[in-house]
Formats: sequence, structure tokens, C-alpha cells
Amino acid sequence: MAKKKVFVISHSHWDREWYMPFEKHHLRLVKLMDEVLDLIDTDPKFNSFQLDGQAIIIDDYLAVRPENKDRVAKAIKNGKLRVGPFYVLQDDFLISPESHVKDFQIGRQTAEKYGQMMGIGYFPDTFGNMGQTPQMLRLAGLDAVAFGRGVKPTGLNNQVSESAFESSFSEMNWIGPDQSQVLGILFANWYSNGNEIPVDRQEAKQYWTEKLADVEKYASTDNLLMMNGVDHQPVQKDVTKALEVAQELFPDYEFIHSNFDDYLAAVKADLPKNLSTINGELTSQETDGWYTLTNTASSRIYLKQKNAEVQRKLINEATQLAAVALPKAEYPHDQLTYAWKLLLENHIHDSITGCSVDEVHREMMTRFEKVEAVAESIRDDAQTALADQVKTDQFPEGSQPFIVINPSDTAKTGVITAEVELERALFKDGRPDAQFAKMQLIAQQNRHYAVIAADGRQVVGRVTGYTTRFGADLPEDRFRVPYIGVYAQVEVYVKDLPAFSWQALALQQLTTPKMYADQTAESLISDGRILENNLLKVEISAVDGSLTILDKKTNHTYHRMAVYEDTGDMGNEYIYKETADQKRIYSTDQAPTIHIKEDSAKRGVIEVVSTLQIPRQATPQLDYEQRAVIDITHRQATRSQETVALTLHTFITLEADSSALKFDVAYDNQALDHRLRVLFPTELETTTNEAESVFEVVQRPNVPEKYWENPTNPQRQQAFVNLHDEKVGVTLANDGLPEYEILSKDGTIALTMLRCVGELGDWGYFLTPEAQCQGAQHASFALIFHDETTADRFQSYQVARTLYLPILTVTTSRHQGTRSTEGTWLEVNADEQAFAVTGIERDQANDLIVRGYNLDSQAHNIDVQVADQKGELVDFQSQHLSETTAPLKAAEIRNYRFK
Ligand SMILES: [Zn+2]
Repeated sequence: MAKKKVFVISHSHWDREWYMPFEKHHLRLVKLMDEVLDLIDTDPKFNSFQLDGQAIIIDDYLAVRPENKDRVAKAIKNGKLRVGPFYVLQDDFLISPESHVKDFQIGRQTAEKYGQMMGIGYFPDTFGNMGQTPQMLRLAGLDAVAFGRGVKPTGLNNQVSESAFESSFSEMNWIGPDQSQVLGILFANWYSNGNEIPVDRQEAKQYWTEKLADVEKYASTDNLLMMNGVDHQPVQKDVTKALEVAQELFPDYEFIHSNFDDYLAAVKADLPKNLSTINGELTSQETDGWYTLTNTASSRIYLKQKNAEVQRKLINEATQLAAVALPKAEYPHDQLTYAWKLLLENHIHDSITGCSVDEVHREMMTRFEKVEAVAESIRDDAQTALADQVKTDQFPEGSQPFIVINPSDTAKTGVITAEVELERALFKDGRPDAQFAKMQLIAQQNRHYAVIAADGRQVVGRVTGYTTRFGADLPEDRFRVPYIGVYAQVEVYVKDLPAFSWQALALQQLTTPKMYADQTAESLISDGRILENNLLKVEISAVDGSLTILDKKTNHTYHRMAVYEDTGDMGNEYIYKETADQKRIYSTDQAPTIHIKEDSAKRGVIEVVSTLQIPRQATPQLDYEQRAVIDITHRQATRSQETVALTLHTFITLEADSSALKFDVAYDNQALDHRLRVLFPTELETTTNEAESVFEVVQRPNVPEKYWENPTNPQRQQAFVNLHDEKVGVTLANDGLPEYEILSKDGTIALTMLRCVGELGDWGYFLTPEAQCQGAQHASFALIFHDETTADRFQSYQVARTLYLPILTVTTSRHQGTRSTEGTWLEVNADEQAFAVTGIERDQANDLIVRGYNLDSQAHNIDVQVADQKGELVDFQSQHLSETTAPLKAAEIRNYRFK
């Protein structure tokens, strides 16, 4: 009989920043890498060290020891260091699909700069696994994945529990919603099951007896995987010696110091036919529900909000516009890769999740700002280039042209704001204060403008005000040119502004003096608290501030919508745990005050001010429970008797012809240890909800499995969550608020706006005062209603996905152009609007790439064209897959390439 083989893989799970700031972990990493390189040089039997699936370790090490670049390169080339497939060990659910693609691309680039990439997807520590993992791995050229969580058994510290196992083996077939399949390898005994192997014979005997039994319990083949390492574990220098001892003690086994590539080859050759199959996302739904770590989605909400904003700027604005507007040769590959590397540092599973110490998250905010600055620079250059290409010389002399750009994949309807430069006075022509006075004079004139299109027809719009301020041009070939400019603030109403489009408009001064203009008879507001357009009628209760909403399309009325709920939280950055008193405070407890903020023909804004008297903080019991490191399931703290006012200013916006009802909330949080949510009791009777995940609209049950003990069952979303029955439905869009929960009472969608906790949690006592999120806060979300058709539901999804991506505007001159006055750079026509575009970029060969996914679990006809070209399908590395004539498959992710 062939011997069982024990594959021992040396590694260290390297949380780059977590319970210490980045640099403290970093210096330990340098020490680890020094030791690994020495060991490679001195122990020929040491097969290799696995760099935790994240190539960033190379960059981090060489930042301190650049002189070791050749040693590192040689080690990778010789297979002694195993690098990739990712650039960072990301969080799965809280980052955009494009971030995942960049993590694959940059991980591979970094590894292949030196040698071969490790050939396995690696998710040792992600807090659950996204459903599209199999398809994404296939598109990244991988057919297997190792992961640590999501499938039972997953308990405290992922120890194997006695209850039933979802897969009979640690190896399983994992199938995604599109039917892509990969080999899944679960760290059933965690990624530390071969850590600290004794050399002492007596200890070794006991160690192996136990560890071999554990691994054999789950292994489907005679190839046993032992992971020699754990979180931030120094390399075991005598591991090959320890394996020699093991070999003597257990001659029936073959002990091999190895690596994932060799282990995988051996396992694949021996796989039995009866492997279990697991499907879609893996989020530990068959556990007691306490340690899914899903509440990291609401820890430090400010990070998630900033991330949403920065991702839009980098992906939808900078990258896309650079790809379509700049000459191919000027596409800023290196600058974008630089920005992505920085952003990916924030997308690591202890970073964007908000579950580290304060220093870590402070540094993250600086990184976000850096990425934002790079993105804004690239976007500004690209949109200026686009504006220069658009023909504007048909506008009358004296008019001031400007370009509006819709970078989203959805037609837009609503009021957009533009700042149009009217005139500038250069410092070289006069003293700054004199130039300022000159421009101020223009702002003070009672000018009267019309907004016109290229054919001369007037469009609905108005100038709402003027600003005078300093500016400076930074020419590429000369010294800076400072000036004072005067700008008109312009509102333009657009109806169905096409996806991926530009349009030239102009401000034209009229000779007729401005009358008490813009006072139209039209209004969307009545009785001071009713907003109404042709699609919706929204009544705000003067008694409790809740909304009654009539969806005119379906004639369905929703009641008591948008109620705020505040509860105590004695948990930590990972886990929400309601205080033992279960004291809950609602906005409906007191009457609101209601003001009209804007009342124009095309937009109505009403402010609702609700005051909740909430406990100031948890009782001192919580302080004791934290210091004594008492597990959250055993805590007994309550909330204080002392209260503070939580005053929520909700600005509710309805625009003409728009199906979206928008909410922007501003408030000052002065309370600790609590959670704030907004509730939408839809009263729809459904058993499932749909939410946007990564490259997927995932359907999830509203009620958890029978094993579930946690009284809450939060879930994660990208842009939206939806509840619908056979007749009507509600899509709730959000701007960087990734945590929701479906409450069975009244079919309520609960959206978390803020969660305030004072400690990190997990394995020790780490205070995190900044996770209490004190001071000014904001939240934006919107309701979009749909009828019984799939097309209308998908329309609501598309609106939700692009709701917070603004229309861009740029002032330009009158000039000839290679582009007509209006047009589109991309045409996407899919049945039922089922295709969502996630990113547009140029690949290494400067070909245009359009990436997106099917919102539906059904196939659809689709046609994607750039300048009448149909393109071809490629993978994440831009390798040809097929032609594009085939229908879009269920849940398919597509990368179109246009030469
Ligand atoms: Zn980790």
C-alpha cells in the first residue's frame, strides 16, 4: 500500500496592520523575511516559504531592505518563495468588483516580475467568501482555492465542532452561480494545523498522533495538508529537522516539506468521485451566527463611505475617462497602478473592515486622500481632453460652452449642477485685489442667462448664483498662471441623459433684464410636507416624521417608512451585541419639525428634523467586561440613564420624472456604545431578498437556518438590497452603507447608518476610541420602487448602482472638434437591462476593456459596441476566450476587448 503523504507548507499569515499600527507589524515582517532568506540559503532541504497569498509582502520588505532585491528575486525564481496570486489579502464583500480584479492583476504582475506565481486562490482569513469566487478564479487562470471560513464548521477560532459538516471532506467542489467550478480546500483545522512542530522525539510523537488524526478526519485523499505557521508566526527554522524526526517515528507516512503547487498536483491526481458540492457564497449561515464577523460591515462607517467615494472617482471617473478620452499612448498605466496599490492597502481584510486599532484607520484615511488626489488629477486631465475634442463652434459668439458627461451605465434624469467659468482676470494684467474687484462686479450685475443646446434650442436650466475666487493654470511648458475667475452656478434639468455620454451645452446671456425669474407656478411640494411627481407621492407625517409613499406606477402604498432606530451595542468592531436592557429608541417617539429647503419646478427638498433622546453610553459594567476580555455572548452591560439628544436632519429630495426618493441625513453623534439604523417596513410577504454582491445579485433567505442563535442576521451589500413580491418591489440604494438586515416583522429592511464601539475585540483587549465615531456624521440612501416586471426591477438596480455617481461638467471654449456635440463612447444593449458595467479601462496593450456582469440568473441577449465594433471576450489577463455572439449566460462576468 502506498504511504500517506504529509505535505508541510511553511508560511505566516501576515495581517499587514491590525492590533498594532502598520509599521510595528512591518518591522516584524522585515525580521521574518530576513530569517526566511537566511534559512533558504542555509538549509537545502527547506522546500519553500509561502508568502501568504499576497505579493505586497515583497514590496513591504524591499522598502526597508532594497539591497536584498536580488536575493528575493533569486528565491522566487527558484521556487523558494511562493508569491501571489493576490497583491493583498482582501476583504471579499466590502470592496468593489474592480478592486478584486486589480488585486488579481497586480498580484500576478508583481509575482511574475520575479518568477512564477503560486497557482491557487488563497482566502485563509476572509470573513466569509463571495459567491462568484469560482468564476473569478477561472477568469484569473486558477482552478483551485484554499479558504478558512464560510463553510461549517466555523466557530470560535474556527475550531472543529461536533455538529454536522457541510462537506464530507476538507476538499470539495465549489460551484458559482454561473456553474463555474473550482476545487475548494477548506482549512478544516485552520491554517495553523502544522504549526510549531516539535523536534523532541517524545513531544513529536504526541504532536503527530494528534495532528495526523485531525487532518485525516477530513482529508479525501492520502495527501495530507499541514500548514506550518499562523498569524504573524516567525518561520520555524528547524522544520526540516522536525520532519526527519517525524519520518523516523511514523514510517508509514511520507513527510514532505512542500508548497501548494506540489500539494495541489498530488491531490488533484487522487480526488475521489464522491466529493461534496458547495454552491455560491459561503457566509457561515449554518452556524450559531455569532462569529460570522459580518458586523465589520458597520464598524467605522466613515471608512466605507470614503471608500465608496474614492472607488467611484478612481474607477468610473479617472480610469474610464482616461481610457476613452486620452490618446492611447497617454493612458496613465503606471499612475493608475500606483493608485490601485495604495487603495488595495486599504482593502485588506483587517483594514476596510474597520477592525483594527485607531492608528491603522487614521493612516487609511490619508491613503484614501492620496488615491483621491491621483484620481482627480487623471480625471481632470481626461475630461479636459474630452471637452477639447467636442465640437462647440456652432454655439453663438459670446456664449459660454460647457460639457456634461454621464460616466455611468444608466441614463440619468434629474437636476444636475455645473459650475461654468464666465471670465477670468490674470494676475499679470493687474493687481490681484483689482482683478478680484473686476470679477466681483460681473457677479453683481443682474445678468440673465439661458442654457442652450448646440442646435440653439433652450433647455431647462437656470443660474442660481455666482462665485468669485482665485485659480491657477499649471501649463505643461510654462510657469503657473494665477487669476481670479468668476463662475456661474448652473442647474440643468436632464431627462434620460444617455449612459456613457457627453453633451455640449452653453450659457447664453440674454439682453432682456432678469425679472423675478425662475418663480414658476410648478412645484413638487404641497402642504409643506407632501412631495409629488408623476411617479411618486410622499407624505411626511407631522406627528412622527414617518413617510407614507404612493408608488403611482403600481398604485401601491407603503406606510411608516424611514423610521430611525437606536439600540445599545456592547460588542466590538467585529460583532454587534445589543445591551442587555434592550432599550430601543425610535424617531417616531417625538414629533418632528419640517421645513421646505428647495421648491423649484424640477426639484423639491424637505428637511425633517427628528430628535431622539438616547442613553449617553453603556454602564461601567461594559468597561469591566472589556478589560476582563469577557466574550460578547456572556456580557451583561446595559445603557446609562443619562441621555443625550441625537438630532437627525433628514433632507428628502424628489425630482421631476424620477423614480428615486433620496435621503441625505446629517447629525452630530455625541453618544457611545450604540447603533443607529433606518427602517423601511415594506409589509411585503417574501421569503428571500436580493442584494448586490461582488459581480452578482445574490438571493438570500430572510430567515436564518435553525442553528442560528444570534438574534440578528446582518448581511453585506454593495449598492442595493431589494424586497419584492409578485406585484411590487422596493430597492434600497446606499452610498457606502454596506450592512443591512431583513426583519421578519413587516418585511422590514433595516439599514445600518452608524455603529459605535470602544474596542477591537477578537483575542485581547485593544481600545479603539475612534470607533465610537463621535462628531459630525452623514448618511445617504434612496428608495426606488418597481412593478412586477423583471425589466423594471433591473432598472431599479441600475439606478441604484449609479445613483451616487455624479454627472461631470467642464467649462470649455468655442472650438472645432473631432467629436460631435453629443454622443456616447459605449453602447450596451442587454435584454431587461440585465448587464451592469463595473469598469472600463485599457489593458497593457492599450486595448479597451469593458467589464461587467449579468444581474440575472437567466441568460439574456446582449450587444456591446464601441464605435460599431463588437469586440471579443477575454479573461482578467486580457487573454482571448471567445467571440461575443453568444448570449450572456446566467450570472456571467464578461470582459470585452476592443482592439
Ligand atoms: Zn488575517
